[in-house]
Amino acid sequence: MKSLEEVLRTWEAVIGLEIHAELTTLTTKMFCGCKLEFGAAPNTHTCPVCLGLPGALPVPNKAAIESIVLAGLATNCDIEKRSMFYRKNYMYPDMAKNFQTTQGPIAFCMRGHLDLNMTGAASRERIDIDDLEAGQTRGNVTKTQDGYCAHVGITRIHMEEDAGKMIHIGGDEGRISGATHSLVDYNRAGTPLIELVTEPDLRTPEEARAFMQNLRRIYLAIGISDCSMEEGSLRCDGNISLRRRGEKTFGTKTELKNMNSFKNLHDGLAFEICRQAEVLENGGVIHQETRHWDPSAKCTIVMRVKETADDYRLFPEPDLAPYDLTDEFIESVRAKMPELPDAKVNRFKNDYALSTYDAESLVNDIRLSSLFENCMAYQASPAQAKGVANILINEVALLFADDESHLPAAISPERISSLVQMLQEETISSKQGKEVFAAMVAEDKDPRIIVDERNMKQVSDTGAIEGVVDEVISSHPDEAARYKEGNVKLMGFFVGECMKRMRGAGNPKLINEIVARKLNE
Ligand SMILES: [Zn+2]
Repeated sequence: MKSLEEVLRTWEAVIGLEIHAELTTLTTKMFCGCKLEFGAAPNTHTCPVCLGLPGALPVPNKAAIESIVLAGLATNCDIEKRSMFYRKNYMYPDMAKNFQTTQGPIAFCMRGHLDLNMTGAASRERIDIDDLEAGQTRGNVTKTQDGYCAHVGITRIHMEEDAGKMIHIGGDEGRISGATHSLVDYNRAGTPLIELVTEPDLRTPEEARAFMQNLRRIYLAIGISDCSMEEGSLRCDGNISLRRRGEKTFGTKTELKNMNSFKNLHDGLAFEICRQAEVLENGGVIHQETRHWDPSAKCTIVMRVKETADDYRLFPEPDLAPYDLTDEFIESVRAKMPELPDAKVNRFKNDYALSTYDAESLVNDIRLSSLFENCMAYQASPAQAKGVANILINEVALLFADDESHLPAAISPERISSLVQMLQEETISSKQGKEVFAAMVAEDKDPRIIVDERNMKQVSDTGAIEGVVDEVISSHPDEAARYKEGNVKLMGFFVGECMKRMRGAGNPKLINEIVARKLNE
């Protein structure tokens, strides 16, 4: 199979996402007063409404409506003042009502968008904008200094409810095949879900990942869900099709499921793009089907083939009147809006002169952005912001095993600040800084104590450095001669040799200056 880079030179990928979020911060279900509690004993949180007993009447959860309106306002959607609930009919034991209550053509939130700042390596998958100047726009993309900005449309965000949970007994790993019987737990039935559907505006797996990261950080900021991709409270399906560059009509799409981490989302889409290209280049056709990403086998597998559209016989829910939102209600929700991630990125760039990449990296992880703000509030001056950001992005971020891991107790704003201070005062070199950081986490000690204990102070004594530089130059006369003949790249060799002799403790700026001076003498 060809690489993604190669495929994207001849083919354009068209990607749309469908993203489900469970409103985990609510206390009760969507249409009844049953408690939402993960891990409770089976069937302890049920009632006639969520069990669909005859005559039971649903009542919408106002807090859930507030959550979806907040999500809509945060993603630039129009809020529809009048929308309705519908019945999506299907018969399966996990849904005792035999239908799912969902929304029809008009949802609470319509016509939104997110702007994705693509920088660094993430921007390189997009190959068709290299000829643009910064500030120029083509299609939904505007070129920026350090990458580009992609404007991605959101078709809608609608409200629906989750089904119960089936447990298959006697089969392999709880699978239905080979099972002797199945059990059902209705505690999850009726859990409020919101589903966001994007326009087919995404063109690379990196853009899909960026969209998901942006949405996750928004949902976390507005506090509507814990957004755990691992536990499934945030789930993402992708629709992918290919067309030759320059073509306008869409190709046949496949739907990809089971992308339960940002890496799986990127890798699953990348594989599917390459697979489709291979089929098409060999004269084959793409079938409209649902596929499953298998991260360990690193391929996608067919789950089911769609011959015709599913017929759920969607019809208006007779037990729920059309839902009318008043201006006062919408404004009261808007008043609760906290600072959104994009605004935070801009504030970090303006107040602390951070690059877009640094600001986005911090804001993408709420643990890093709040640590950054605590560091800056503690004692660090704005001049130290870049140093703090570097440590957070290059060191602290690596300590998180997954989205749920906590900051190690050894890391505090005051310790980060004193580490940054020592680096900026050149008490220690950046190489020593990495060692101090690792020791700080491993030994739970203040960085200044570590530097004292290990006698790690950086050598900034000009005389001592000159001595080492003289030694290095005299023991490499051939290289020194080649340098003088014009091979200036050898400068790095001499600096490296000096650093080695000083065991990383030499001030790199001084070493550079002295090596340059001595070689040109
Ligand atoms: Zn209930």
